[in-house]
Amino acid sequence: MRAMVFDRVGARLRAADLPRPEPAPGQLLLKVRACGVCRTDLHLLDGEVAIANPPRVLGHQIVASVEHGKAFDEGPAGPVPGGPRVEEPSRAERQPRVGVPWLGWTCGICGYCRSGRENLCPNAKFTGRDIDGGMAEWAVADERYCFAIPEGYPDEQAAPLLCAGLIGWRSLRMCGDAKRLGLYGFGAAAHIIAQVARWQGREVYAITRPGDEAAQSFAMELGASWAGGSDESPPTELEAAIIFAPDGALIPTALRALAPGGTVVCGGIHMSDIPSFPYELLWHERSIRSVANLTRADASEFLRIVPEVPVKTHVTIYPLEQANEALADLRAGRFTGAAVLVP
Ligand SMILES: [Zn+2]
Ligand SMILES: [Zn+2]
Repeated sequence: MRAMVFDRVGARLRAADLPRPEPAPGQLLLKVRACGVCRTDLHLLDGEVAIANPPRVLGHQIVASVEHGKAFDEGPAGPVPGGPRVEEPSRAERQPRVGVPWLGWTCGICGYCRSGRENLCPNAKFTGRDIDGGMAEWAVADERYCFAIPEGYPDEQAAPLLCAGLIGWRSLRMCGDAKRLGLYGFGAAAHIIAQVARWQGREVYAITRPGDEAAQSFAMELGASWAGGSDESPPTELEAAIIFAPDGALIPTALRALAPGGTVVCGGIHMSDIPSFPYELLWHERSIRSVANLTRADASEFLRIVPEVPVKTHVTIYPLEQANEALADLRAGRFTGAAVLVP
């Protein structure tokens, strides 16, 4: 199969011809239909988030069709003991199209897993970092970490929901009932979360790179009350802010825009260093917190909400072989919304 492979930090992804992966028991064999590109992929390429065992197929926003294989003939739901021998369709057969997110496996027995915080499991394995991901024609994934894609969403439109959407959703939840919400960095995650926040009745203030008029007008089209550069101040005090851009300097910037009691939520897996700032910016019970990964509960909840909003994703589509170009365009901010690879 064709795949785009990470070999080492600083190198371009390599177009490779790999054997089709074999599903282990409990795994699905997936024919990849689309795979979203994420800023985390740039952090992996740059070594800011480490890949322990390269070579590795990147890609953790996979939309795929489930191929019927060994894994689901055995299916989790067998015949009822003592009852008539009825073949229950396995979960996979009921859901011919699935999404695979960043969270690929957790241990299920650690304190975090047992307290509803599997996103913090120290033994967790992540798709496209510890497990081969979706920048390929085929992939395998643990059935328990695959999710039904809402109907009515074409493959390409659904892909960004699986990380930009899910991490964005978890970040939004950390904002509590804040009505005036700032979104710092208006890319894939923010363009989804702005729609959800508006649907929830919040006001959205979009903060982009200075002078990025394309992102600012895109934010306004999606219902933002105001959009401007990070060198400007929002016209009102924010009750919460989510920072999706990887620039640590945005933390004091966002604190300056925040009302007393407000929260700054850092939605990214990596940020540049945070410059020092006066304690006064944090005073009055403002807080700063990060969001790490996602839980399966986040995924179920978010994918249920998506068609209710309904969220519309804005995507730029690249053929699989142009993964490097998609990543370069993401780095340079050359598209609005999200980039998606199609094999
Ligand atoms: Zn665990
Ligand atoms: Zn991601």
